[in-house]
Amino acid sequence: MSDALIRDVPKQLFIAGGWQDAESGRTLSVDNPATGEELCLVADASPADGGRAAEAAVAAQPAWAATPPRERSEILRRAYEIIISRTEELALLMTLEMGKPLAEARGEVAYAAEFFRWFAEEAVRIDGGMMTAPDGKNRILVTRRPVGPCLLITPWNFPLAMGTRKIGPAVAAGCTMVLKPAPQTPLSTLALAAILKEAGLPDGVLNVVVTSDAAGVVEPLLRGGHIRKLSFTGSTQVGRILLAQCADTVVRTSLELGGNAPLIVFDDADLDVAVEGTMVAKMRNMGESCCAANRIFVHTSIADEFAARLTARMAALTVGPGTEPGIDVGPLIDTAGRGKVDDLVRDAVKHGAKVLTGGELPDGPGNFYPPTVLTGVSTECAIMDTEIFGPVAAILTFDDEDEAVAAANDTDFGLAAYLFTQNLDRALRVSERLESGMIGLNTGLVSNPAAPFGGIKQSGLGREGGRVGIDGFLEYKYLAVPTGA
Ligand code: NAP
Repeated sequence: MSDALIRDVPKQLFIAGGWQDAESGRTLSVDNPATGEELCLVADASPADGGRAAEAAVAAQPAWAATPPRERSEILRRAYEIIISRTEELALLMTLEMGKPLAEARGEVAYAAEFFRWFAEEAVRIDGGMMTAPDGKNRILVTRRPVGPCLLITPWNFPLAMGTRKIGPAVAAGCTMVLKPAPQTPLSTLALAAILKEAGLPDGVLNVVVTSDAAGVVEPLLRGGHIRKLSFTGSTQVGRILLAQCADTVVRTSLELGGNAPLIVFDDADLDVAVEGTMVAKMRNMGESCCAANRIFVHTSIADEFAARLTARMAALTVGPGTEPGIDVGPLIDTAGRGKVDDLVRDAVKHGAKVLTGGELPDGPGNFYPPTVLTGVSTECAIMDTEIFGPVAAILTFDDEDEAVAAANDTDFGLAAYLFTQNLDRALRVSERLESGMIGLNTGLVSNPAAPFGGIKQSGLGREGGRVGIDGFLEYKYLAVPTGA
């Protein structure tokens, strides 16, 4: 099935509703992280190709903005149905290019599709308002309009869901788009573009450019004056660069950036729930998640017991190619990603951390890294302010609530946080004090298409998903009408 899937998936740029080679004829290689081998070649866009994609989005904008909301809604709903009906193919494609185990890839297909179903429902609920001005002289009519052509940039870690989380609200709002996926995982996005075309999305509404020259393709688009919104998911470092580029032409921005999630286990937690929640918060997507628990703070009185139970669970996981049955942990995205994880573990050990399981690079092909538990992690370690992005649980201890909250907040990031306690007063008190856009209380999973996803501090600007997820793609427009009074 894998060979046929790779043979049939689109490998060209998607511009104005058609599949096209790059103008230069250049291609880039998409590799399987489980083997290091090339899966296929994909068209590699130049800045000129990016410009053509933006022109197509600009040309399609007026007609698309005028399309009835019900039509936009039904396109999303049809795309949702198609995605669900092709769960197995899409999951396998994602596993091949990204590495996550098939069970997790199936979960991402469902999660990704749900953004289309959610925003299909929101497309027909875009409202405005009307009121009489306080002095009685004017009627104030407020409508909401699409912001216009958008540039969407996505990372490699959730290849399908990061696309649908942006495309869903853009389609619902009536915006056209240029989407630039990460070059490591473009196949899921190209398959998604084909599905949207099949679902009836008009030509030019979505354009996809895959490129090995992200900076060269994106900067002219942001400075060109036609793109009216950037929606970016990726690292804080790149987010800062793009925010600066958006300043010149005052492009509105939504930024979903990096995290450094604290996970706090109090001495009144249910330890079974805490260990289970930590496994999810740490190991979902092999730890390659912006919401992954990066720093695990455990009350001193239960730290040894917690570490022993977590170590038993981590050591029992099966590592291997995500396409094989029974695999819990697939490869990391590339050798650079794995090298970074290894460096962070070595740095922690240099600062006195103890390795309870894992911690050694395996031999053989593929970017595998073993599930690893570290205790006695010092606050001097690089892990304290670096996203691990790998299957490594770093455990620290604390003695009281104030100390835990201060340590958790001691970071420039504020995306997700996790809290385990059975004391409701404490749960509410601590969640109010945690500087974080999303908090999991006695759970390791916060992502939900119906919830506002996003962070504070340097983790980003704006929210995706939930009722507010469409707001960034809409402008208010106000009409003053004299009453004659
Ligand atoms: P990244 O290096 O920032 O890349 C993200 C995307 O931006 C890729 O498509 C990348 O393409 C592109 N890019 C890089 N430099 C660019 C530039 N100068 N101009 C325009 N585009 C540019 O992040 P990543 O390594 O792919 O993803 C991991 C990061 O994403 C982590 O920090 C993670 O926390 C964050 N993330 C956040 C969320 C969230 O919702 N908050 C969700 C998922 C991931 P190239 O690869 O070609 O450079």
